[in-house]
Amino acid sequence: CFGSMTTREPIGVIGTGYVGLVSAAGFAELGHEVWCIDVDAEKVARLRAGEVPIWEPGLGELVERHRGRLHFSTDIADALGHARLLFVAVGTPPTYSGDADLSAVRAVVNAMSPSDRHALVMKSTVPVGTGRHIQRLFKEQGKGEFRYVSCPEFLKEGSAVADFLGPDRVVVGDDGDWAGDAVVGLYAPLGAPLVRTDIASAEMVKLAANAFLATKISFINEIANVCEETGADVLEVARGMGLDERIGPKFLRAGIGFGGSCFPKDVSALKQLAGNSGYHFQLLNSVIEVNELQKRRVIGKLQKHLGGLVGKRIALFGLAFKPNTDDMREASSLVLSARLQADGASVVAFDPVAEDEARRLLPNVDFADTELGAVDGADAVVLVTEWPQFRELDWVEVAARMAGTTVIDGRNALDPEAVRAAGLAYEAVGRAQYT
Ligand code: NAD
Repeated sequence: CFGSMTTREPIGVIGTGYVGLVSAAGFAELGHEVWCIDVDAEKVARLRAGEVPIWEPGLGELVERHRGRLHFSTDIADALGHARLLFVAVGTPPTYSGDADLSAVRAVVNAMSPSDRHALVMKSTVPVGTGRHIQRLFKEQGKGEFRYVSCPEFLKEGSAVADFLGPDRVVVGDDGDWAGDAVVGLYAPLGAPLVRTDIASAEMVKLAANAFLATKISFINEIANVCEETGADVLEVARGMGLDERIGPKFLRAGIGFGGSCFPKDVSALKQLAGNSGYHFQLLNSVIEVNELQKRRVIGKLQKHLGGLVGKRIALFGLAFKPNTDDMREASSLVLSARLQADGASVVAFDPVAEDEARRLLPNVDFADTELGAVDGADAVVLVTEWPQFRELDWVEVAARMAGTTVIDGRNALDPEAVRAAGLAYEAVGRAQYT
């Protein structure tokens, strides 16, 4: 807890989504007054009323604890008037071609007034070269004294608050001026290793780190697919690989592919960035393709067990792209349910926290209030998101309620013996003995 620190310099945060709101609450925890700006007036009204519009462990408590330090507004002038460091945490979603859509970033840049006492600190993930481009824009717009710092964010949804307050490292890319010093000072109480570098390198760290993690996932998924064909168990293989210090145990969990708001978009953005610069990033093409095919393998497994999908009822356990979040962006469940429905099946789903968002995106899916409600009359169950509570289910009760007997564990997260002991047919990912 950093709450006992004396009040420090005010901070501006533009965009109050997963990154912006968590950062704002984190800076408040470090003792700062924070001016949070968002174009979404409804979101700002909810935040002002004390509501936290996203589900993230510990965030509600942190926002509540620091309500006196957190100010919410739709007017960027409020941040400019109070703070010299303006952290930008607006969305940079993919365009149809896979490039990053920088329209929200551009809107923020255009809204700045000329100043020699302010700095824009980019937390949003942007293509390499964006910082230099913004500095050029500032010059053209007569705001050349506005400083620029790249400070990419590495927090993970589901543990965002803990990640923000205890980062593996802090990366600060700047021109070696007061603004970079100020950002370094701001993060100093966290005691994390610091990488202070130039702007382009800082931008590249973020894209390269996400692309590498995605590569690791696609790699282990391909190993899993070969395990299924050759009699090996990917859990054993990953354990044996992960103990090699050069490899490490993390991100070696085979499953039905990565999703979420960052990996798919950042891999595509890096691939596009390379292509636009004249370099064909061969490896990333495969990372993306493997990930797409991995989601579809579940359909093949269901077809094998059910002998076709027409008229079958499939229950999905979990919908968000990972546990402990309600974020549905690029979740594997979106592709899966669309494919199942296209093949003639009906889909019923249960997610502990993502139902509201999922209902908007999946209008033809039935929603159950509980896991057991979802399996009533189901021909098959697919574990999509590995919430620990699914592992604790009473599988005898599940079997009694199901019409069929198929359980596909898309995350290798269930206890195969418990599922099989209930008389159900269990299939995992990359575990030859459970195919
Ligand atoms: P988000 O969609 O949850 O939030 C973005 C917010 O910005 C929204 O509330 C939106 O209304 C607001 N906004 C848009 N245009 C604005 C403007 N002109 N002025 C003020 N507010 C504006 O997005 P997010 O998940 O928080 O991601 C933000 C950025 O951080 C992205 O670039 C993302 O790649 C990056 N990032 C995300 C994560 C993550 O886990 N979500 C992790 C690291 C980095």
